Amino acid sequence: MTYPHHDIVIVGSGIAGLSTYLYLSESEAFKEGKISICLIAKSTLQTTNTAWAQGGIAAVHAIGDDFEKHIEDTMVAGAHMNEKQVVRKVVEAAPALLNDLIRWGTSFDRNAANDYDLAKEGGHSEARIWHAEDQTGHAIQSALMQHVADSAKAKVLANTLLVDVIKDINGQFHLHLFDESRKFFYEITTSKLVLATGGTGMLYSKTTNQHVATCDGIFIAKKLGATIENLSYIQFHPTGLFHDGNNSFLVSEALRGAGAVLRNQQGEAFMHQYDERLDLAPRDIVSRAILAEMRKHGNAFVFLDATHLSPAVIDHHFPAIKDQCKALLNIDITKEMIPVVPIQHYSCGGIKVDAFGETIVSGLFAIGEVASTGLHGANRLASNSLLEAIAFAKFATEKLLVLSDYQPAVPVTFKIECFDIDRSKIQELLSKHAGIIKNTKGLKQALSALQTIKSNAVAVAFNPFHFASGALLDVGILLIEDALRQEKNRGVFYNEDLVNDLVP
Ligand SMILES: Cc1cc2nc3c(=O)[nH]c(=O)nc-3n(C[C@H](O)[C@H](O)[C@H](O)COP(=O)(O)OP(=O)(O)OC[C@H]3O[C@@H](n4cnc5c(N)ncnc54)[C@H](O)[C@@H]3O)c2cc1C
Repeated sequence: MTYPHHDIVIVGSGIAGLSTYLYLSESEAFKEGKISICLIAKSTLQTTNTAWAQGGIAAVHAIGDDFEKHIEDTMVAGAHMNEKQVVRKVVEAAPALLNDLIRWGTSFDRNAANDYDLAKEGGHSEARIWHAEDQTGHAIQSALMQHVADSAKAKVLANTLLVDVIKDINGQFHLHLFDESRKFFYEITTSKLVLATGGTGMLYSKTTNQHVATCDGIFIAKKLGATIENLSYIQFHPTGLFHDGNNSFLVSEALRGAGAVLRNQQGEAFMHQYDERLDLAPRDIVSRAILAEMRKHGNAFVFLDATHLSPAVIDHHFPAIKDQCKALLNIDITKEMIPVVPIQHYSCGGIKVDAFGETIVSGLFAIGEVASTGLHGANRLASNSLLEAIAFAKFATEKLLVLSDYQPAVPVTFKIECFDIDRSKIQELLSKHAGIIKNTKGLKQALSALQTIKSNAVAVAFNPFHFASGALLDVGILLIEDALRQEKNRGVFYNEDLVNDLVP
């Protein structure tokens, strides 16, 4: 039996997937028509976390800054759990990667001297954040999508859900795909598979992530035999906008970088009680400080005060935040304080890969937020994730372009299982027991409750929502198991029953 075959299939249309596609498309092999590449995404191409990134992307550029400082900042944020050679490789590659983004059409803000207008964010010792107002992700997503669309040979399939993968005895990956528009399954094969499926946000009741962040890549990679690590290193963003809904709007760190101050509901600035870096301390520290203030005063949120900043600065640098606060809460942030609360934001762990983005399953790659590369350690430094995604897209091409002689695919049998699972129950358990501050009893309760949900789940006909809930359940269990294995509090990980030596 023959199947439609591609040499490389990329799953995901965020910065990781699109930049992998673009680097590969610049190879001689692609230009000469010797390799075929296909990119798929389960929703529209622009439905990604990438499109919502605000602050920007980190790369050394300013006079006075250097690679050693960026490396040190990354290691400090990651509680020195990072792999230093990976940090060095990414940081040193960053300026050239920024040039690639510019070459592909991304426009970054410039200052009055016509140089790039670099911002400083929490945990960075220098200004090195390249941005496009407060909509950097949108600028990158649009530019990369346009550049891919301009490629005459682009084979891109939107609304195409990867449901399962089996690797056959000849080393070919069989992809079971569901066409969401026409509602049918089909199968394609590939010699190399890149999972660029993004984050884990939908595990939690409140997240900055888009609805596509349902852990599918981790779920599939685990079944293929890849190593999954550090899943419980979840970064909570200190300043999610306090309002209704699962997907919450993010109030960028850059606003604190510009001088906005956190205040409790009594109007007092409090960060001086928690860290000498005040409002620009790393995110884990700021999140725990906010939680402590909320608990101390019995409040559901704190305020971010930008009222002392010049309205011209707000209009110039933060138009999207201003508009969203007005639209969602009817707040004018130049005159009123913004209610904020820490919410799930970023997965530092994921599918373990080597320095070229390859997993222990030969031919299976993971790039972007879905991967655990060693860059972030126990906590991600702000604006290092877009950078990590494009860096590994480039590093991976070295291995992706080495293709052995094609061995014909051997038929495999897919067994699609889908269960009626209450997704909100999973989110409730993770939010309650695997949030910013955990304890061992709560983690054990959550694990047992998730296992009960799994054993009682009733089989139903396939539909994409239930499929994703199944992925969330399995990855939720992996996350809690990972949390229970942790022996120390480090970076974003905090269990009040463990040794507290790395937390101020
Ligand atoms: C609000 C917000 C602000 C942020 N701000 C910053 C910032 O300023 N700087 C920074 O460095 N980082 C920031 N981040 C983090 C950063 O945006 C993400 O880590 C990064 O964009 C992830 O890119 P990605 O390509 O890995 O995944 P995504 O951009 O999320 O793309 C995932 C893709 O995978 C597809 N997919 C998933 N599952 C399947 C499946 N089963 N089948 C087919 N397709 C599938 C999705 O459809 C989507 O196309 C922010 C994140 C958020 C949410």
